[in-house]
Amino acid sequence: MNFNCVFPTCNFKKNDIEEEQFLKHLKENHNDEMIEISKKENMSINAVEMITISNSKVFINSG
Ligand SMILES: [Zn+2]
Repeated sequence: MNFNCVFPTCNFKKNDIEEEQFLKHLKENHNDEMIEISKKENMSINAVEMITISNSKVFINSG
């Protein structure tokens, strides 16, 4: 799986990593942001993590 971190202040970009590794990046670098989003959007932190992961996935379209 290829990931390009969705947070605009972050330039984390990695190919061929597991979702778990990207989640680790989120927890280590974006915990505060994710907590803020969860408060603001009234969502659980797990939901925010899932959405962030899904928005950061890079799908290669081979056409
Ligand atoms: Zn990031």
